[in-house]
Amino acid sequence: MSDRMIEVADLRISFSSAEVVKGVAFEVARGETFGIVGESGSGKSTVLRAMSGLNESWDGRILFNGEAVPKRRSREFFRKVQMVFQDPFGSLHPRQTIDRILSEILLVNRIGEIDRRINKALSDVALPQTARFRYPHQLSGGQRQRVAIARALIAEPKVLLLDEPTSALDVSVQAEVLNLLADLREEHGLTYVMVSHNLAVISHLCARVGVMQNGLMVEQTSVEDLRAGNVSHPHTQELRRLS
Ligand code: ADP
Ligand code: MG
Repeated sequence: MSDRMIEVADLRISFSSAEVVKGVAFEVARGETFGIVGESGSGKSTVLRAMSGLNESWDGRILFNGEAVPKRRSREFFRKVQMVFQDPFGSLHPRQTIDRILSEILLVNRIGEIDRRINKALSDVALPQTARFRYPHQLSGGQRQRVAIARALIAEPKVLLLDEPTSALDVSVQAEVLNLLADLREEHGLTYVMVSHNLAVISHLCARVGVMQNGLMVEQTSVEDLRAGNVSHPHTQELRRLS
């Protein structure tokens, strides 16, 4: 693949003695969005968590821009790879202002110009500057997810890992957030990996998808073929029927 941004090879992850990710491999080109679909419990979030540095015990290889992810957490390394979760309420501290929530990663990484960066991040996600002084519960669900995206972007990462980023939102708000993610990908030259169970959401952003079942990536296909039903694995066909 030309200009490969992400390479995952033979990724294996166990909890206690149970292996829940059993040798997953995929590659993502720079600027591409790779989708991951699959039933609940198939290991999608576990793969993203390992890639984002949230889980340090895994085997195999994860490379970003040709650079192998260190087995021990490296702050500088993982600044470049940020995660956005399904439920922004769960991932935003309820008693911190948006200002504080956005400052944190800058302070931890000793990145200066905090004021300017917060204002820029808010305008990048089309939130008013007044949102700085609000708490998460004072915002709508869509605004909270915009804050989560601003937090992910503020330290200028190269890769966003999106775990069901629109599943908790109303359908009209989902479209807004997907359009925002598409715009940000162009403007910031980002590469995405996005988990979703919704074929329409996948089609909006992704060109290719991997299908996970029981810890394995059983098929990789273009979204075109997935929509057209040109897929071989029965699980992939079932997914298409359910969408
Ligand atoms: P998905 O995101 O595809 O729904 P997950 O990656 O969350 O699936 O989970 C995959 C499997 O790993 C499930 O069987 C789940 O119960 C298990 N699992 C996930 N996280 C943990 C954990 N921290 N401890 C033990 N088991 C876990
Ligand atoms: Mg999950």
